[in-house]
Order: sequence, then structure tokens, then C-alpha cells
Amino acid sequence: NARRIEGLDKNIWVEFTQLAADYKAVNMGQGFPDMPPPQHVTDALVHACSAENYRFHQYTRSFGHPRLVTALAELYGKLHGRTLNAFTNILVTVGGYGSLFCAFQGLIDLGDEVIIIEPYFDCYEPMVKMAGGIPVFVPLRPTPVKGRLQSSGDWSLDPEELVSKFNKRTKAIVINTPNNPLGKVFSRHELEGIAELCVQNDVLCFSDEVYEWLVYDNREHVRIATFPGMWERTVTVGSAGKTFSVTGWKLGWSVAPEGLMKHLQTVHQNCIYNCPTPLQEAVANAFSVELSRLASPSCYFSSLPNELRVKRDRMADMLSHAGMQPVLPEGGYFMIADISNIEVDLSGEKDDEFYDSKFVKWLIKNKGLASIPVSAFYSAENKKNFSKFIRLCFIKEDATFEKAAAILNDFK
Ligand code: PMP
Ligand code: GLN
Repeated sequence: NARRIEGLDKNIWVEFTQLAADYKAVNMGQGFPDMPPPQHVTDALVHACSAENYRFHQYTRSFGHPRLVTALAELYGKLHGRTLNAFTNILVTVGGYGSLFCAFQGLIDLGDEVIIIEPYFDCYEPMVKMAGGIPVFVPLRPTPVKGRLQSSGDWSLDPEELVSKFNKRTKAIVINTPNNPLGKVFSRHELEGIAELCVQNDVLCFSDEVYEWLVYDNREHVRIATFPGMWERTVTVGSAGKTFSVTGWKLGWSVAPEGLMKHLQTVHQNCIYNCPTPLQEAVANAFSVELSRLASPSCYFSSLPNELRVKRDRMADMLSHAGMQPVLPEGGYFMIADISNIEVDLSGEKDDEFYDSKFVKWLIKNKGLASIPVSAFYSAENKKNFSKFIRLCFIKEDATFEKAAAILNDFK
């Protein structure tokens, strides 16, 4: 194998998605909705594939189908409070993954350090390494609470620890808000602190905002690219899969200044060239529907979080009832729960794994419920300190909840 992929062969999704399928488990592990996407979104794809639209079955513009980049420039222009050029500030990629990959490959050089906040969406680490960079980790630290559920807001960075990670070799920091797996929504104040460090140290920011519409309890999704001095150094990542509940479409985008974007484009044109035209046409149509009702409660960007807040609360009740200690997420569609108080016999599982991994495997095999071990979202040095949590996904229909509840009730 090539040296740049040395040691990167294990992948949590490949392993646990297969295990969940093998045991036909109730799947609250991998993050995908098991309910239908909005009708207008699926209709748009049917329309884009219809005989009269035969031209959409051919290649389109490499860096993004013109209708889609135009819609994205209009939307993100509003959200960022600046005029965006559809053709130089937007890149359409294969999922949010594709945007992240282009950013790391296009902007990180051999020996560059990249700061990653833990827990983190697992692919950041191998992507930094494949680019020749060195990941530098800084954990969110939980503050214990009494008399109420812990919230993802009770997990925060130690400002001094964060400062200590910046040095001459630091090229970029990756942030993810709302965060996967914790559900933390970084506050304006927290982002301001990170932005100041980026500007002072001349560091880039890769801001993974794929769950940008999913914030609860009047929390605000704040975009780091809007802080002083940040637009010119930020690549913002979005995902149609998360925005419209169509994760199988694997369409995403980056928003960035032209000076950075041209390097992402170079990577994209040399590995993907262009994303599927019918999907891009359909997502453009889906955006035009939502753009016309952006402020209305019927807009999917408002109705989906309203629906998910109820599911989040139901999941927290269900996990508490089973004796776990959930951490209530402020955003996204995942919840982590502390399993320290659950007593199960894990002697049948291999001993060279972390406790949470053994627990998750046991739960799939013996109880038929799939979740994801949270140690998968930590660096090698920190896994041991965070190995008693599991992550569950709550963008699931009521029937799935009922099956999961029946399994969890068995614990008492
Ligand atoms: N970032 C985060 C935080 C995610 O949870 C995901 C979900 N897979 C992605 C990026 C990738 O998104 P996509 O499915 O559009 O590639
Ligand atoms: N983002 C989703 C999750 O965290 C899916 C991950 C994936 O497919 N790699 O579960």
C-alpha cells in the first residue's frame, strides 16, 4: 500500500454498519433518517430524470451545476451577509465528505499541523494524515451537573489548552457545529475566541456545518466565516444529505473565498471532475422551494428541527429510563449517553477493545440494537478517557423508537 494510507484501514462505519446489518439490529447507529424526505425533494429528482429533461443525464459543469451553484450562492450570500459569486465561491462535491477531502488535499501540506476538537467526526483525522498533515487534538471537557440532565453545552474547551495548541506549524483548525457526535452548538462567544486565534496566528478554518439547520431550544447556529477577518480564511462545508434528509444522494458543497476555493477546485477536477447532474438539478429545485418560504414555519429548515426536538426528548427519556445518562444535544441528530451504570457481562467480547466498543457489539448481538461507540470519535491518546459513552441517532420514525424502547426496557 501507499505510505499515505498506512494505518488508516479501519473504519467505524464499515465495521459497525455491517455488524448492524448482519444481526438485523434496530439501527440507531449510523446517522441517516429512516423516514421519507419531503415530497417536493423526491419529486424534483423524478422530474430531473424525466424524458423531457434528457439533457440532465449528461455531464454538467465541473465545479457545480449552474442552477445549483446559483441557488447556493443566493442562500449562503444571505446567511453570510455578503454577495457570493456562484462560480468562484461555491464548489459542489460528493457529499460533505468530498468538500472536506478537497479542503485537506488542496490546502494542507506535508508537516502542517491541523487542530481537531474532540470528539470529532472520525474522517477528519485520516484526511489530515492522507494530506501529509499532523492532527493535533484538543478535547471538549464536560462539567458535571446536579439535578438535571447534562447538556452538550456543558462540554467546553479550556481556553488556555486551546491557545497552547497553536504554533508556527499550525495551518488550520477544524470546527464542527452542531457537532457530531455530541450535538454541541458552539456559542457566538466560543466561536469568537476561536476566530481571534485563527486571525492572530494566520490559521485557516474548516467549518463543518452539515447540521446547520438542526438547532433546538432557540439556540442559534453561528457561522464562523462571518466574524471579522474570517471570511478570507474559512472553508464552510454543507451537505444536501443532511439538509434534505437524502443522505444517499451524497451531494455536498464548500463555500469559500476565491483564493482558497481555486485549490479545492484543483483537487476536485483531478479526482471527481463533476457530480451527478440529475441530483444537482433536483437539489437546486429543492432549494428554490425552500428559498421562497425561508421565514415560514412550513420551510423544511424550520419544520425538521421542530419534529426532531420531540424525538430528541423522547430518546433522552428512553435512555434515562434504561439507566443510562444521556447528554442532551443542542443541535444535530445524535445523542451520546454515559453507560457506566449499566451492568452487563461483556466477557464474551474480545478484550483488546475499549469498553464502549465491547458494549455496542454486545448490544447488537444479544439485544438487536445498534449504536456507535463514542471512543471512535477520539484520538488514540484520548480514547481511554472517553470510553463509556455510546452514540445514538434520533432521526428515526416512531416505529423504530418503539422497537428500541422495548429493547432498552429489558435492561431494568
Ligand atoms: N460532517 C459531519 C459532521 C457528518 O456527520 C457527516 C455525515 N456523514 C459528514 C460531514 C459527511 O456528509 P455527507 O454524507 O454529505 O458526505
Ligand atoms: N454522518 C453520519 C454519522 O455520523 C454517517 C457517517 C458515514 O456514513 N460515514 O453517522
